[in-house]
Amino acid sequence: MKISVASGKGGTGKTTISVNLALSMGDTMLIDCDVEEPNCHLFFKEPMEKVREVGIPVPVFDMNKCTRCGKCAEFCQYNAIAVIKEKLLFFEELCHGCGGCKIICPNDAVSETEHVLGIIEKGGNDDMELYHGLLKIGEPFGVPIIKAVKEMASPDKEVIFDSPPGTACPAVEAMSDSDFVILVTEPTPFGLHDLKLAVDVVKNIGTPFGVVINRAGIGDDRVERFCEEDGIPLLASIPNDLDIARLYSKGIPIVEGIPEYKQVFIEIYDKIKDIVKIQRGE
Ligand code: SF4
Ligand code: SF4
Repeated sequence: MKISVASGKGGTGKTTISVNLALSMGDTMLIDCDVEEPNCHLFFKEPMEKVREVGIPVPVFDMNKCTRCGKCAEFCQYNAIAVIKEKLLFFEELCHGCGGCKIICPNDAVSETEHVLGIIEKGGNDDMELYHGLLKIGEPFGVPIIKAVKEMASPDKEVIFDSPPGTACPAVEAMSDSDFVILVTEPTPFGLHDLKLAVDVVKNIGTPFGVVINRAGIGDDRVERFCEEDGIPLLASIPNDLDIARLYSKGIPIVEGIPEYKQVFIEIYDKIKDIVKIQRGE
């Protein structure tokens, strides 16, 4: 089963839930899809090791063959090519690597080279493999790296995907094709606002989902009431506990520092399995 852990905004404790759930489930892989700022690895002692680079094909123009007809510039939806007077200008940072300009060119003037966007690294411990994608500084498009790191998921294992925060393309890419989405939120007005945005996105994707309230006790009960009124399963409430915050600051998973919490995460997993079974009519 593939489970994505997402949130409408950063700083809700999404990574804490991902890491501790993965460590509690057994025979699980953890894949950190927050390629701009992966931080699941901070909870593991072993250093991450490079697996491979991830890139996209970008065009190279043969100006001896190019007639400056402008067809490639007309085709490019991302305005990465401009033909002005007798000059062809290529803005590599805008290119999405779709390959369309190569296909459309009537003079065979376009070939391709790889533009490296970032890397995939592997880590974790003896019990759990961890992969993450790492977008190069200054690169604007993380989605190809998210797709590539998701390919590391083993079909024989339970897999947790730690999604990027927010509700934009990277988060949607990370959540798509999961069997279940956990939305992590805080019980505050801001938390509720961002949760509602995330709920709309997950409903559109059509994946079953539930909510985990993190730092329960710091706000009010509006998130709980919203879930109840909307029929959204509340999977767990993790209290605003100073001991948890201390462990977090030292990079120690909750289930290692306070082993009794493992049961809370096992119960989250059990609830997810029950919901998915019902959805599948099993
Ligand atoms: S389509 Fe081909 S020939 Fe025309 S401007 Fe682009 S690269 Fe040059
Ligand atoms: S590969 Fe696609 S996005 Fe990149 S320049 Fe060509 S048409 Fe534009």
